[in-house]
Parts: sequence; C-alpha cells; structure tokens
Amino acid sequence: MRVDVVSIFPEYLAPLELSLVGKARTAGLLDLQVHDLRTWTDDRHRTVDDTPFGGGAGMVMRPDVWGRALDDVLTPGAHLIVPSPAGAPFTQRTAEALATEQHLVVACGRYEGIDARVAEHYAARGRVTELSLGDYVLNGGEVAALVVVEAVARLLPGVVGNPESLVEESHGAAGLLEYPVYTKPATWQGHAVPDVLLSGHHARIERWRRDEALRRTAARRPDLLAALDVAALDRHDRAV
Ligand code: SAM
Repeated sequence: MRVDVVSIFPEYLAPLELSLVGKARTAGLLDLQVHDLRTWTDDRHRTVDDTPFGGGAGMVMRPDVWGRALDDVLTPGAHLIVPSPAGAPFTQRTAEALATEQHLVVACGRYEGIDARVAEHYAARGRVTELSLGDYVLNGGEVAALVVVEAVARLLPGVVGNPESLVEESHGAAGLLEYPVYTKPATWQGHAVPDVLLSGHHARIERWRRDEALRRTAARRPDLLAALDVAALDRHDRAV
C-alpha cells in the first residue's frame, strides 16, 4: 500500500518511522511518503492560508496551494482522506475498508481547516472521505493522520507478526471489547490472576474470556452490546 501525507508540519509524522509501522516501511509492506505543503506555495513567505470570506476568527487554508499539492500527489484511483472534526467517525470498520486500498492520501488541515472547495473538487473526480477521530477539536490533522495510518497499517498482511493477534481484538468481528489480559507473575501486589487462566483447560478459558468480553462491553460500551446481532449469541452468552 502507498500512503502520502501532506502537512505543513511534516516532522509531526516522525513517529511513523518507529515500531511496527516503521518496520512495515523498511520491509516494503508500506510505501509512506510525508510531504511539506509549503513545497507547493508560490510566494516568498510560503503562504498556505488567508482570512475567511464572510469574516470571523482564524485563517483558512488556501485551495490553490492544496490544489497544486493534491494534483501532484493523487494518483488515479487514490482515496483522499481529509481529517476533520466534522467528518464521519473513524472506526475499526473504516480502517478495515481503507486497508484494502492501493493508495491513500491524507490532507492535514490546520487553522480553521481547508477551504471547503478542495474536498468538493476532488470528490467530483475521485474518492474523498472526511474523517473525524472523535467529538473534540485538535489543532491539526497530523494526529489524525498518525491514527489512521497506524490503524490501517497494522491490518496489512505481514505487518503484525502473529495475525492471530488481530482476531479477538476489541472492535473486531465479535463486536465486543476484548477480555482483560494478564501475564507473569501470577500474583502481583496481592492481586492474583483469575484461576481459570492457570487451569490449562482451553474450553473453560475460552468461555471465561467470552463472558468477560460480554460483561466489559455491557459495563463500558452498552451501545456496542445493543448493536450485536442477537442471533449470533448462544445460550451461555444470554446468561451472562
Ligand atoms: N474550525 C474547524 C471546525 O470547527 O470544524 C476545526 C479546525 S481544527 C482547529 C484544524 C484541523 O485539525 C482540521 O482541519 C482537521 O484537519 C484537524 N482536526 C481537528 N479536530 C479533528 C478531529 N476530531 N478529527 C480529525 N481531524 C481533526
């Protein structure tokens, strides 16, 4: 997969050189390029913003600068992602869908955001999705780019060493939060690991994990529980 991120703060994306995403890049599983939007400015001050039409506070990112950048970076069939607090919520389902793409381009806004004509213009020519990380406002789209790239990259074949790790995760196919996990020592600060996990009885361990996932989801995210397909629940699930 190829991913291009365009930002006025390319250094903000440095963490994408680390850990699994960094390794995926080195291994050639992810071709990630970060671009400085100011490369596409045409004035001495390398201006990317201007005052908003209609007045009001803040500055808006200029469509002409973004247009030059995106015309250069987008390839036919690429999917343009525009982080925005007014976008569709970014979820694991979105990450799964994006992980099947050949080329993503992430346009990181700053200030009051990018002139609205940019998304309109490219939506008439290809795919554009405005994505929100959540109901809060960040200073710029770079953090959203980090989140989207990491969530998508870990779903690419070969990026996570053991693909089993992706199966039972929170927000996975089961629609539940993951059960609590433990490691050695078996007792720490007087807190013991649940006995069943030391039993070696795989069926019981599986049942316990499923029960805990159901309980946790009911307590923390009743919205996820309510969205579960009732037909997919077995007799034991209903008893939890
Ligand atoms: N005035 C804009 C509004 O109220 O919708 C907020 C602009 S925000 C200060 C600057 C940039 O940060 C946005 O253009 C977007 O790229 C990014 N951003 C802020 N909050 C975000 C969120 N919740 N999800 C994704 N991107 C966000």
